[in-house]
Amino acid sequence: MQLLCVSMGKVVRLYWGYMVAAALVVAWSQQWALPVIASLSVGVSAYAAFQVPVWCGAVNRDGRTYCRNNAYGVLMGCSKRQHRWQKIKMIVLRSKVGNVGRSVFPTAKEKFHGALAVGGLLSAVAAVIVPVLTGG
Ligand SMILES: [Zn+2]
Repeated sequence: MQLLCVSMGKVVRLYWGYMVAAALVVAWSQQWALPVIASLSVGVSAYAAFQVPVWCGAVNRDGRTYCRNNAYGVLMGCSKRQHRWQKIKMIVLRSKVGNVGRSVFPTAKEKFHGALAVGGLLSAVAAVIVPVLTGG
């Protein structure tokens, strides 16, 4: 029983972002208070950018293969500091270091996480802008 609790806790710690994302969908469709929507949005975005379990995706030294170490968050790399920088550079500058689409978002799962990060951000912006536009 205790073992079950421990593993449940781990699951929640790793995947809470999906629950927040689900809550966010409900929040928009049920028109919850905008501050609530904004904080849920920021949560989803932060989770996808900094916490979701993913592949590192930085280019290895041979320049042709991509690092497949575990990393947390689409913006972060594995434990090698150089990989973290490289990944952020790749995403921010869309540089010639590597093909961002193939390395950082190789599978549908990674693309989904990228979409979560962007979607959360857009949702947060929307929650701030909507009251300005509607005057209330
Ligand atoms: Zn790496």
